[in-house]
Amino acid sequence: MTSREGARDARRAVGKLQALVRIPTVSNRDPDLVDTEAFDRLLEELRAQFPLVHERLELTPVHTHGLLFRWPGASSERPVVLMAHLDVVPVEGTWQHPPFSGDVVDGAIWGRGTLDDKGCVAAICEAVETLLEDGFVPAQDVWLSFGCDEEVMGRAAPLAVEELERRGVRPWFVLDEGGAVAGEAFPGVAAPIGVVGVTEKGVTSLELRVEGRGGHASTPARMGPTARIARAVTRLDRSPMPARTPEPTVELLRRMAPHAPQPLRVLLANAGRLGPVLARALVAAGPESAAMTRTTVAVTTLSGSPALNVIAATAKAGVNIRIMVGDTVAGVLDHVRKVVDDDQVHIDVIEQHEPSPVSPRDDAFELLESTIAELFPDAVPAPYVMMAATDSRFFTRICDRVYRFAPFRMTKAQRESIHSYDEHLGVDAFLDGVRWYRRLVEKLPA
Ligand SMILES: [Zn+2]
Repeated sequence: MTSREGARDARRAVGKLQALVRIPTVSNRDPDLVDTEAFDRLLEELRAQFPLVHERLELTPVHTHGLLFRWPGASSERPVVLMAHLDVVPVEGTWQHPPFSGDVVDGAIWGRGTLDDKGCVAAICEAVETLLEDGFVPAQDVWLSFGCDEEVMGRAAPLAVEELERRGVRPWFVLDEGGAVAGEAFPGVAAPIGVVGVTEKGVTSLELRVEGRGGHASTPARMGPTARIARAVTRLDRSPMPARTPEPTVELLRRMAPHAPQPLRVLLANAGRLGPVLARALVAAGPESAAMTRTTVAVTTLSGSPALNVIAATAKAGVNIRIMVGDTVAGVLDHVRKVVDDDQVHIDVIEQHEPSPVSPRDDAFELLESTIAELFPDAVPAPYVMMAATDSRFFTRICDRVYRFAPFRMTKAQRESIHSYDEHLGVDAFLDGVRWYRRLVEKLPA
């Protein structure tokens, strides 16, 4: 390929991502508040941008706007699933460039969804489209699963799993968003870390509720519903779940060790033996690293009486819990009951998800690692525990190897822009991501 052809292909690929970003596919828990016309347009845009993907792959529509493609390979023995999602979260804060502009400024594509997760949608589709142009046939069936309601924990991903199950598909591995080629990942470590999520925390929500008599605010009784709820909240805040370093975290630290300065290097290299010490150090280093070591409990919503001069007949506190691998919903509920220690506080489980099982680091993980090494030679591939939830957790039901990695270089500021403001993806980073998915598919073993 000449460099002029290369530049033209690059512009074409970037133009496709820009077009996807310009369509505001914001999802909402309330279906009535979803701009379904925007989702319709996105699907049309994908059809126009990636004609071969739509011509040669078998498409099963899922739920309202989800897509499940099957690209027949030479074998169906060890199928793989590449995932991404079409929806985005609403716009927050003040942006340097309009969030649905898709503008290219300073070598980056700006806009909501560039990192989360239309960058992956566009990179996966472009990789497949260009491989189809080359007449390439993958060694294994490749499925593409694009959900339309990931950000609101919707139905598309579980329905895609049901469809695969119905067809008897047991993927060799599943790859979704999550990790990245993360710069400035750890203080003192200069090399970017190619973090691949091998498990993710489980999300569980509770509602604490105290009922009372209510009445006029001029004649309050002691320990009414609001006081009881407040005491429960304070007790939860004072008694966090115990901290520890799960195995993938130990491995992550161990792999970073050679790239860290002394004396950190020795500490990280011995992460396995120093587990409890490390866990304490991570807790002390701040809420972000503390979340890496334990199940977190956050009281998010509070409610009492609707009027200033009325005593609450009911007081409620919403609790959002992110369960660390190794803990269970039942264990966390026990902890909450024990810590709150008040039988007048009723605990209702609103939603419950266990943490995802830890995916093994065998041949499939090694394929991801070697592809990371090829495209990002300066990066250190490593497993890690994902803090946030992805659609891929539903696939653990039909697949033992579920990995979370977006093949894009991201700075710390870029990672912080996800679900926040000024989300942007480097043009070169995006093009490397397209190459990464291409290589991954090319390298699938027979
Ligand atoms: Zn996402």
